[in-house]
Amino acid sequence: MNARDRVLGMDRAITRRDFLNGAAVALTGAAIAPPWLSAFGVENQQNPEQAADYYPPLRTGLRGSHPGSFEVGHQLRDRRAWSQAAEDTGEVYDLVVVGGGISGLSAAHFFRAAAGPNARILVLDNHDDFGGHAKRNEFQHQGRTLLLNGGTLNIEGPSQYSPQAMGLLRTLGIDIDRFEREIAPDHDVYAALKLRNGVWFNKERFGSDRLVVGSPGGGGGQTGGWAEFLARTPLAREAQQDIARLVSKEQPDYMPGLTSDEKKQKLLHISYQDFLVKVARVHPDVVWFYQTRSDGLFLMHIDMLPAFYAWNMNYPGFQGMKLEPTPPDALFYEPGGAHGRENQARASAAGRAIHFPDGNATIARLLVRSLLPAAVPGRTQEDVVTSRVNYALLDQPGSTTRIRLNSIVVNAAHVGDPGGAKEVAVTYVKGGKTYRVRGGSVVMACWNFMIPYLCPEMPEPQKEALAYGIKAPIVYTSVLIRNWTAFAALGVQNISAPGGYHSDVQLPEPVSIGEYRTSRTPQEPTVLHLVKTPCAPGKPRKEQHRLGREELLRTTFETFEREIRSQLGRTLSDGGFDPARDIEAITVNRWPHGYTYNYNTLADPVEWALGTPDDRACVVGRRQFGRITIANADAAGSSHTDAAIDMAYRAIAEVIQLRTSDYVSRIAGKKS
Ligand SMILES: Cc1cc2nc3c(=O)[nH]c(=O)nc-3n(C[C@H](O)[C@H](O)[C@H](O)COP(=O)(O)OP(=O)(O)OC[C@H]3O[C@@H](n4cnc5c(N)ncnc54)[C@H](O)[C@@H]3O)c2cc1C
Repeated sequence: MNARDRVLGMDRAITRRDFLNGAAVALTGAAIAPPWLSAFGVENQQNPEQAADYYPPLRTGLRGSHPGSFEVGHQLRDRRAWSQAAEDTGEVYDLVVVGGGISGLSAAHFFRAAAGPNARILVLDNHDDFGGHAKRNEFQHQGRTLLLNGGTLNIEGPSQYSPQAMGLLRTLGIDIDRFEREIAPDHDVYAALKLRNGVWFNKERFGSDRLVVGSPGGGGGQTGGWAEFLARTPLAREAQQDIARLVSKEQPDYMPGLTSDEKKQKLLHISYQDFLVKVARVHPDVVWFYQTRSDGLFLMHIDMLPAFYAWNMNYPGFQGMKLEPTPPDALFYEPGGAHGRENQARASAAGRAIHFPDGNATIARLLVRSLLPAAVPGRTQEDVVTSRVNYALLDQPGSTTRIRLNSIVVNAAHVGDPGGAKEVAVTYVKGGKTYRVRGGSVVMACWNFMIPYLCPEMPEPQKEALAYGIKAPIVYTSVLIRNWTAFAALGVQNISAPGGYHSDVQLPEPVSIGEYRTSRTPQEPTVLHLVKTPCAPGKPRKEQHRLGREELLRTTFETFEREIRSQLGRTLSDGGFDPARDIEAITVNRWPHGYTYNYNTLADPVEWALGTPDDRACVVGRRQFGRITIANADAAGSSHTDAAIDMAYRAIAEVIQLRTSDYVSRIAGKKS
C-alpha cells in the first residue's frame, strides 16, 4: 500500500469490505460448487437462505449484479459445455416465474389473485435477494439502521400510473397521500441549513479541482445567478460567455428560415452535443460542462441524446427557435412517461416522485409480504420499512407460493409441441447443481435478451426482436459516512461532477417513516448516493452500452473504493471531510444490465421512439409462445416500475386466457 492509499484510508477496515473484494469469480464447470457460496460461511450450500443470519440487504462491497449471480448466465451465453444432467425435483407448479424483480413478483401476485390462494407458484431468481433492480441497501451503524436504494429510486409520476399499476400499489397498502403527510416535515431538512446544488470541476478535465456551490436552475431562459456562478468556475472565459448565451432568454434562432416542424426534423437526428458544437457553436468546455446532464434519465452522455429530447426537456439553447410545444396528449399513456418525448406540463402534473428510504425495494417487500405474509412481518407501508425479512420462509416445502433465490434459469422447454403442450419444463442452476421443475405456464419476467438463450425453440424473428435492445449499464454507490458536517460547512447538498469518476454525489432524500428516522442534523451519520454511467462517448449507442457493461464487470471493488475515497476527499476536504476517517462502509450497486433499452431517434426508427407502433421490437418480442408468456419492463420498451407491473398484468392475462381455454376444452370433452 502506498502513502497516497493510506491517506485515502484504503487500509481502513470498513464493513465487510473483504467479503468478495470485487474479484470476478470464475465458474469452471456447472457441477462444481461455486466458491462464492463458501464466502457466506454457510454450511448448506444448496440452501444458504435457510441460515439464520442470511440477510442480503446488509451485504456491502460489490452488490447489484453481485459475484455469483451472473457467471452461469455468461456460461450459457458463451455456449460453454453443460456437462451436468438436471435432477428432477418432482415439483409441479401452476405457474413458474423466471425473475423475482417487480415484474416477476407482480406476476405472481396477479396470478394468485386470479387463480386463488391454492394456486402453486414458483418464482426463480438468480440473485441472493429478491426485487431485481429494486434492491435495498441497509447499514447498521452504532445501533442505528440507515437505508438507501441500491437500484430503483422512486415511484415516478404516480398519477400517470395505469389503473392496474396504481391499483396494485394500493392493494399492497401504499397510500401516497398518507406518505406525503407523514414525510412533510422532512422536506425542509436541507433547506433549513441553506444547502444548495453545486458542481465539482476536476483537475483532469477542467484544469483545477474546484467545488462551486450555488448552481442556478439548469433550464434555458433561467438567467438569474449565472454570471456570478460562472465567474467562480475554472471554465475558459469564452466557455463562460457561451453558457451565459445559451441560458439567456434572448437567444438567436439557430435555424432561421425553417418552420417549427422542419427544425424538429433536424433536431431528431442530431445529438445535443452536436447541436451545441455545430449549431450553437460553443467552446468545447461547454460540452464538458453539460456532458453528463442526460445520464440520470438516459444512461448516455449528451453525444447520444437527441437534440429534440434536449429541447423538449428545456435544456438550454432552444429559447429563440420558436418550436411548437409537444401536444399534451402525445405519449401520455406510455408507462413511466417518455422522457424527452412527452409534453412537459403534463409530465410535471403526473405528481411528485415518491421515494421510500430504500426506494422501490419497499414495493418489492410489500409484494413478497402479500405472497408470503409470515416472511415480511407487519401490515403497513410504514412498518415494512423497518421490517426484517425472514428469508428462510421464502421457499418452504409446504407453501403454495415459493420464491427461490440464487437460482438461475438456463432452459424452459415445452413438454411436447409448443402448440399443444400442457407443461413447460424449467431447468435452473442453484449452488452449482442443475434442477428441473415443471409448470403449467411460465412467465418470463427476466430480461428480454436472456429469453432466446432460455427458449431456443422460439421462432427466430421473435428471438431477434427480444435481442434487439441492449440494457444500459449504471452504478448506484451507497457510502455510509459518520456525519455530513462537510456538506453543511460547504452549504451543498447535490454535487454534479461532469468529469468525475461518479458524475453525481448526493445527500439522500430525507424520509422519516414509521419507526425509521432520517438523518436530520449534520452530526448524524448518513448514506451518500453516488451515480456513475459507464459508456463510451462517440461510439454507436449499442456499442457504448456493451463497452460500459464490460468496463463494469472488469472493475474491481478496490478500484471503486479508491476512486470513491479520492473523489469525496477532493470534493469535500475544504469542508473538513477526511475519507480515511469519515467513510464507514461502501456498497457499489453495479447494474451491467440496467435500464431497459428505451428507443431513441438517433439510434432507432423515429416512429418507435415517438410513438407506440406494433412493429417495435418490444411488441414483437413479447408475443405469447405456447405456454410461455413474457412480462418484465423490457417488454414495454420502458425502464420504469409501472412498465414492469403493466407487463406482468398483461402476461398473466394471457396465462389466464390459456387456462380458461384449457378448462373449456376439458369440459367440452375436446382433445387439444
Ligand atoms: C439503477 C436503476 C434505477 C432505477 N430507478 C428507477 C426509478 O427511480 N423509477 C422507476 O420507475 N424505474 C426505475 N428503474 C427501472 C426499474 O427499476 C425497472 O424498470 C423495473 O424494476 C424492472 O423490473 P423487472 O422485474 O422487469 O426487471 P428486474 O428488476 O431487472 O428483474 C428481473 C429479474 O430477473 C432476473 N433474471 C434474469 N435472468 C434470469 C434467469 N435466467 N433466471 C432467473 N432470474 C433471472 C434478474 O436478475 C432480475 O433479478 C431503475 C433501474 C435501475 C437499474
